[in-house]
Amino acid sequence: RVKQEGRNGFRFFDPGMQEHSARALALSASLRHALARQELTVVYQPQQDLHGGGLYGAEALLRWHSAQWGPVSPAEFIPLAESSGLIVPIGDWVLRTVVQQLAQWDAEGLPPLRVAVNLSAVQFAQPHLAQTVQRLLHESGLGPRRIELELTEAVALRDPEAARRTMEALSQAGMRLAIDDFGTGYSSMSYLKRFAVDLLKIDRSFVRELHSNPDDQAIATAIIQMARSLGLHTLAEGVETEAQREFLRARGCDAIQGYLYARPLSASAFADFVRTQPKLS
Ligand code: C2E
Ligand code: MG
Ligand code: MG
Ligand code: MG
Repeated sequence: RVKQEGRNGFRFFDPGMQEHSARALALSASLRHALARQELTVVYQPQQDLHGGGLYGAEALLRWHSAQWGPVSPAEFIPLAESSGLIVPIGDWVLRTVVQQLAQWDAEGLPPLRVAVNLSAVQFAQPHLAQTVQRLLHESGLGPRRIELELTEAVALRDPEAARRTMEALSQAGMRLAIDDFGTGYSSMSYLKRFAVDLLKIDRSFVRELHSNPDDQAIATAIIQMARSLGLHTLAEGVETEAQREFLRARGCDAIQGYLYARPLSASAFADFVRTQPKLS
């Protein structure tokens, strides 16, 4: 097709940024239609409780299977959705989809789990975010504790006063708040004291070489200890080996998420996974 010849042409004389931005522009154009064309889905990655060994909860992760481009990673399309403003309708759709899924699982008799949803800065800056999520939960007859909202340090610190108000409203409404990719952003930790945070998600970059890298061991241990002193929970991301899980368990980390326990699963595969779990305590 013409577009692809164009891309190949770019690659021929300029293998750098221009090709990247040509792809970005073309992807953004496709993304505009992704919702209407039902190309977006949500998968659910189980999280393991390190105290009892059972299910801690799950994280909802967006997937885009484009008719034109095939599967596109969220690491690539979420930034495009953010810069084009599409993240607002897409983010609303994710929240609605997760809430409806929770209600359906309840109706099917699954234990009442908590699902974490990622929020980007643009969504977080919306003045009525707390009311919107509350209304969605109320319409589906779900309690606020069933949803956890994940935001990064950068989102929390962009406009600290507005962020504090939004987090306060979400927390007042009973929703749990998690800081995603903890330790990779600006490490002004005073916000942990002022903000109504419940959970720190230790970034995968500190977990990857946990078996061999003393710096990562020191950082992970320090995050867990600090969180415990502040009365916050910790969850480690990207846990792939038994050695990583044992290190984290021994240090008092509350939960893990990663390929060792489970990959992100379709809604029906996730329900099957939950049914094979020992009963929640
Ligand atoms: P994240 O929120 O930090 O999500 C965790 C990422 O780590 C996911 O990548 C997950 O598939 C991956 N992962 C989980 N366990 C392992 C493991 O053991 N090893 C490795 N190597 N990776 C693991 P994914 O699904 O590609 O998502 C990437 C990022 O895209 C997310 O990072 C999040 O920042 C963003 N994202 C995904 N869904 C949404 C969404 O609905 N809304 C927004 N705003 N952002 C989203
Ligand atoms: Mg996340
Ligand atoms: Mg994360
Ligand atoms: Mg991450």
